[in-house]
Amino acid sequence: MAKINKQQLVSLYDAQDIAKLWQEARNKAVIHHPQYGWISPNAYRAKYAGKPCPLCGQKMVHGQDIHSTLSRREAIRRGYGYNVNGETQLNQTGDRYFHPHYVSLDHKLNKARFPDKMFDPDNLQVMCWKCNNLKGDNNAYELQHTFDYIDDLAHEGLKRYTPL
Ligand SMILES: [Zn+2]
Repeated sequence: MAKINKQQLVSLYDAQDIAKLWQEARNKAVIHHPQYGWISPNAYRAKYAGKPCPLCGQKMVHGQDIHSTLSRREAIRRGYGYNVNGETQLNQTGDRYFHPHYVSLDHKLNKARFPDKMFDPDNLQVMCWKCNNLKGDNNAYELQHTFDYIDDLAHEGLKRYTPL
């Protein structure tokens, strides 16, 4: 009996190829949005410039000319870096570094595993790049984040209104 390669079971598709496809489609009208009609990922993202990220509440930015740089040093100088487990992280695509709260489109179901849902508007959610990065492939992240938020609110409430 042939030995099963477990690694092949993890992802049925080549994540690199899928990521490349997503990159190449950024200015093509590939998303059929119920409100915006046929729209490119880039134009879709642009609609959310200046709006708060639904997860961290920070104002999102859009426009690569203003909100990205090719220099890692310049990115750090602009304060693009953020701390993840004691290490400085930067939003990076290719050799370009982006603002931490740059608008990004998150795939609820990972695009490498569900490539047929890559441009499905129901599978897309807008959030800042940093949150998208922190979320990674963890579908429980959003729930955990909501729970933390409610927990914080509850504690804040208890501080303000001490039980009689
Ligand atoms: Zn965010």
